Amino acid sequence: MGDYLKDFVEQVKAKNPAQPEFIQAVEEVVPSLGPALEKHPEYRKAKIIERIAEPERVIIFRVPWEDDKGDYHVNRAFRIEMNSAIGPYKGGLRFHPTVNLGILKFLAFEQVFKNALTTLPMGGGKGGSDFDPKGKSDSEVARFCQSFMMELFRHIGPNTDVPAGDIGVGGREIGYMYGMYKKLSNEFTGVLTGKGLNWGGSLIRPEATGYGAVYFAAEMLETRGETLEGKTALVSGSGNVAQYTIEKLLDLGAKSLTLSDSGGYIYDEEGIDRKKLDFVMDLKNVRRGRIKEYVDKYPKAVYTPVDKKLDHNPLWNHKADTAFPSATQNEINEKDAANLIKNGCYVISEGANMPTVPEGIKIFVDEKILYGPGKAANAGGVAVSGLEMTQNSLRYSWTREEVDSKLYDIMKSIHRQCHETAAHYGQIGNYVAGANIAGLIKVADTMLDLGIVG
Ligand code: NDP
Repeated sequence: MGDYLKDFVEQVKAKNPAQPEFIQAVEEVVPSLGPALEKHPEYRKAKIIERIAEPERVIIFRVPWEDDKGDYHVNRAFRIEMNSAIGPYKGGLRFHPTVNLGILKFLAFEQVFKNALTTLPMGGGKGGSDFDPKGKSDSEVARFCQSFMMELFRHIGPNTDVPAGDIGVGGREIGYMYGMYKKLSNEFTGVLTGKGLNWGGSLIRPEATGYGAVYFAAEMLETRGETLEGKTALVSGSGNVAQYTIEKLLDLGAKSLTLSDSGGYIYDEEGIDRKKLDFVMDLKNVRRGRIKEYVDKYPKAVYTPVDKKLDHNPLWNHKADTAFPSATQNEINEKDAANLIKNGCYVISEGANMPTVPEGIKIFVDEKILYGPGKAANAGGVAVSGLEMTQNSLRYSWTREEVDSKLYDIMKSIHRQCHETAAHYGQIGNYVAGANIAGLIKVADTMLDLGIVG
């Protein structure tokens, strides 16, 4: 099996030379798959992993738009329709200047495994644009979103492909895109998730990824007879995922010490309480300010700007029991991983996608800490997106308690699948192996059932 998997990785590298993040995501999954492929020779015959690593379809298009001064701009946009074996393509849209084909393919690839773990019928996809919403007026963001949807609308649909938010795409952007989709299609239908409550959204969707990452951490701790009560937490990012991670940590009696954005991070030794979190939510979601303003309001906290010359991120070099990376990919390098371990961190639940580099993951797995990889730990967001699709189909809305309890059950089930699958394949406690193998088996068995058509 070793040679087969090595050849497979070489093929992926040769075919996708300028896509390091995509290659990284494939290389992260492959070492786990050997035992599953040994057990299922039919996967190899049907070229399942070769097919999973090749998108079913990639759409690339231009998005022209006009700024407030009357100047014109052109951005590049993408939708990766990665795998529809178990349901319509499903995955977020990212608006960030770093967006390119390789980053979206890595996210779409991860999404296929993640969605399979949710127990809901969703295939995998991802999309976005190199447009940067930061510093743009509401009307500029609206014009961009409308122009973006003028092309995307012909490729998506409630039974075909259902995008959602991701970095740079929150309720405001989903609203502008949904408005344009509705106008073009002349249909009020659940084609996007993360919608507002008045127009088909689900309660708990904004909270879902952060809450889910905390539920996943709590499940991991339960395997050792522990809870989050009284634990300290390092949280990165200050957007959607970070905010609701801190909210749920507060609910469960843990103390969050940090928050960050691309400018730097704050460390608040006293902990980020409900009042401080409300301030951050207003700062980030309404005033769209920078995290350094936190220390103007709470001067006992310390702000440290990003220092590009450092070989590590000092946010990860504080003493804490747990860590919830919730900003972006590759935000924990090998040194950061070593620092986390050195400072006593033994629970890591990834809210972000692929926040840890492969060398860092190896440290966590070798140290046998409770390490929940993003494709399992942050699946709560897409899970509640799946529940939003169900509510749209039913033309009905569940209560906050109903959705939260379904989210909790789904996170428990994802944890159980990862834990049991890892144990079944002789790697007890290895959530990376568990998530990768359990995700693969569901998608692979379905692809076999459906024949060589995709
Ligand atoms: P937001 O746009 O709401 O927030 C992103 C946060 O991360 C901001 O604080 C941003 O700072 C920071 N950030 C983004 N890029 C960088 C960078 N290159 N360097 C440093 N900081 C950065 O996004 P979300 O909270 O929705 O997403 C965060 C992560 O969670 C992403 O990895 C996303 O893929 C993942 N995720 C999100 C889900 C969701 O439901 N939203 C679902 C599953 C995973 P700044 O404002 O300065 O850019």
